[in-house]
Amino acid sequence: MTGAYTDLSVYDYPRTACPLCAGESIRTKYTITRYSLPFNIDMCRRCGFMFMNPRFNDGVVSSFYNEDYYRGNAEYSYYDEREAEKFARHVWDKRIKVLNRYARGGNFLDIGAAFGGLMRAASRYFTPYGIELSPYAGTEARRRFGSAVHIGTLDNHPFSENFFSAITMIEVIEHLPNPKTAVRECYRLLKKGGVLALQTANMDGMQAKLLKDRYAYFMPGHLSYFTRKNCTSLLHDAGFSRVKVFLPVEFGLLPKLMKSRYTFTSWLHYLRWLKITRYHLLSKLHYGNFAATSSMVVYAIK
Ligand SMILES: [Zn+2]
Repeated sequence: MTGAYTDLSVYDYPRTACPLCAGESIRTKYTITRYSLPFNIDMCRRCGFMFMNPRFNDGVVSSFYNEDYYRGNAEYSYYDEREAEKFARHVWDKRIKVLNRYARGGNFLDIGAAFGGLMRAASRYFTPYGIELSPYAGTEARRRFGSAVHIGTLDNHPFSENFFSAITMIEVIEHLPNPKTAVRECYRLLKKGGVLALQTANMDGMQAKLLKDRYAYFMPGHLSYFTRKNCTSLLHDAGFSRVKVFLPVEFGLLPKLMKSRYTFTSWLHYLRWLKITRYHLLSKLHYGNFAATSSMVVYAIK
């Protein structure tokens, strides 16, 4: 522990074993001090899993997901999905279209549904359901989808086994205190042949490796950091029969460019498309466990 840890009451107890593989050889990899609450990132020598250790306690973690988080106003926050919806739809629609090639209709569940943007896109092919932790965002999603939205978590939802043909966790798994239990629960909820689609960072990507502790993905709400390899193992261990990894994401460049326009206020901002295009093309550079960037989307089929 460094001197930066002035208020110990915000932390949970420190883990002495890897939460993913139970390996007991773990070491502190980075200390992140750029936020008002500093935190350590530990790494397992056996499976390469990185995790916040000690992590913030449940009270602190849940305090992150308040109204300011969903309005994009907090120090550490999401963006206001409602203002961006008309642009973000390009990504959501394409994402659902690809998912439907694997799942072929049926019941769809978005975990971390926020205001229900992805659910709305899914309604084109699927019957959409959602789980949203935040009463602020979840109440709004309920206004659109009624009781199909559960305000709560994967630990206390009303959905039954073998009910869904597709489940999405888009940039959610890294926020969960127990990703292993979450993935197993998704497996239980999916019917045979159903698909779990998840997006998270690949810490084996050169982007993460070169930026080290400066990598922007190290945020107070991110408790778990996977690699392509240990994420694949996690899914196989949960019972999934087939795992497919898309680098950087499961769709092409165009929807990303269209989505990016939500921040543009001048024509000059279109220059940002050069940066996005460069990133997308760089992401195509991968071989085996090597990947130039750290974006990934993983499909797991039951
Ligand atoms: Zn491990």
